[in-house]
Amino acid sequence: MKFTVTRGAILQRGLTHRCPNCGAPTLFVAGSLFTIAPACADCGLKFERDEGSFLGAMSLNYGVTVCGFLVPVLVAYLAGLLAGRPAVILAGLGAVGFPILFYRSSRSWWLMNYYLVLPHHLPANQRQIAAGEDANT
Ligand SMILES: [Zn+2]
Repeated sequence: MKFTVTRGAILQRGLTHRCPNCGAPTLFVAGSLFTIAPACADCGLKFERDEGSFLGAMSLNYGVTVCGFLVPVLVAYLAGLLAGRPAVILAGLGAVGFPILFYRSSRSWWLMNYYLVLPHHLPANQRQIAAGEDANT
């Protein structure tokens, strides 16, 4: 099936925090760092699909924090590149700071992952059914 919005476009829009459906800039409320808009101001795509849908974003944020920050600090400590005290301080600061800095991306990346797997769920990829056409064809 050929889509109007390709997986490449979904990937690009997800990485740049844009609406996966129309590419309008930012999923977030203007002037807010952490408040996601309920829907796209341009096309109306709901960003919060259902309550709890962004638990996955929290899991993604946790996983990236652990794998992308805490494990490298641990490896640097074990390899002797960092002493114990600086490693603990760095890990502590990173465990709090990294998820905050990654919050916006985790929300956008989670939404991107959903539509990368199910691109036909985007309204832009759903074609109109012609008069007399069966919806299952
Ligand atoms: Zn949109």
